[in-house]
Amino acid sequence: MLLDVHDLKVEFRTRDGIARAVNGVSFGVDAGETLAVLGESGSGKSVTAQAVMGILDSPPGRITAGEVLFQGRDLLRLNEDERRRVRGAEMAMIFQDALSSLNPVLPVGDQLGEMFVVHRGMSRKDARAKAVELMDQVRIPGARERVKQYPHQFSGGMRQRIMIAMAIALEPALIIADEPTTALDVTVQAQVMDLLAELRREYKMALVLITHDLGVVADVADRIAVMYAGRIVESAPVQDIYKAPAHPYTRGLLESVPRLDLKGRELTAISGLPPNLTRIPPGCAFHPRCPMARDVCRTDEPPLYAVSETRGSACHFRTECLHA
Ligand code: SF4
Ligand code: MG
Repeated sequence: MLLDVHDLKVEFRTRDGIARAVNGVSFGVDAGETLAVLGESGSGKSVTAQAVMGILDSPPGRITAGEVLFQGRDLLRLNEDERRRVRGAEMAMIFQDALSSLNPVLPVGDQLGEMFVVHRGMSRKDARAKAVELMDQVRIPGARERVKQYPHQFSGGMRQRIMIAMAIALEPALIIADEPTTALDVTVQAQVMDLLAELRREYKMALVLITHDLGVVADVADRIAVMYAGRIVESAPVQDIYKAPAHPYTRGLLESVPRLDLKGRELTAISGLPPNLTRIPPGCAFHPRCPMARDVCRTDEPPLYAVSETRGSACHFRTECLHA
């Protein structure tokens, strides 16, 4: 297994008290695999990714427990120098907002080239040539000229392509993409997602795709991990989830997005809001919003039960949900 996260816990100190943003999360990613991490905003997806990458804002955030094994090493035990070497070269991250991740006063070619200068000890001239090559690869027209331009001279979609180019530059084993297309127009979203999926295949990289949008994961993901209130509530191969969800929250997400295979069906949104993380409800955190909730749900927190060899659900009534 390439990445193996065990019982990760992250807390944030807030004015309201301690927010338990990540609450005992475990998951694995095999080499070359694509895992989609799905959930509403505030479910802990981004914080989990930041903890794995070693870029958590701390303080106020603090990892209080867990292991992040990457190629067998626990990243949480490395010092900042060692972490920096892993970042970029062995795992890279793509953010939603390219404009704030890129340096506004440096030509994009220099930023791309910097990766090769720092991590590979290349000369500036060779690094510039590499930057052109990368921009070609992410299909930015006129790369030879455009390497000299600044981030604001590119459209949102083109900037996201530059982010992808930076992420794949050193051919890392793992890319974590946090809502990589959320800020883009719908048509551009699909193009950028296709490009990411294609390059991932070409370089045989593993991808952790963080999204609130179930619509984008069907075509790209091998597996889905659904997060709610800082925990994984369902984890399964993507086809299994589409066939029949084993958790009422997953069911709610599925019923709130349009699907080509279920034309004419009515869309229903999940009622209520995700909980305040300083006051997570007792028992199953989803119980105030769950149409299947019963007494036991208000008192007993369900662990991630094995539903099959490849599937887990943190629901007391997972079998009922599966056959509902
Ligand atoms: Fe709903 Fe109970 Fe299952 Fe939680 S444990 S998802 S409240 S049925
Ligand atoms: Mg987020």
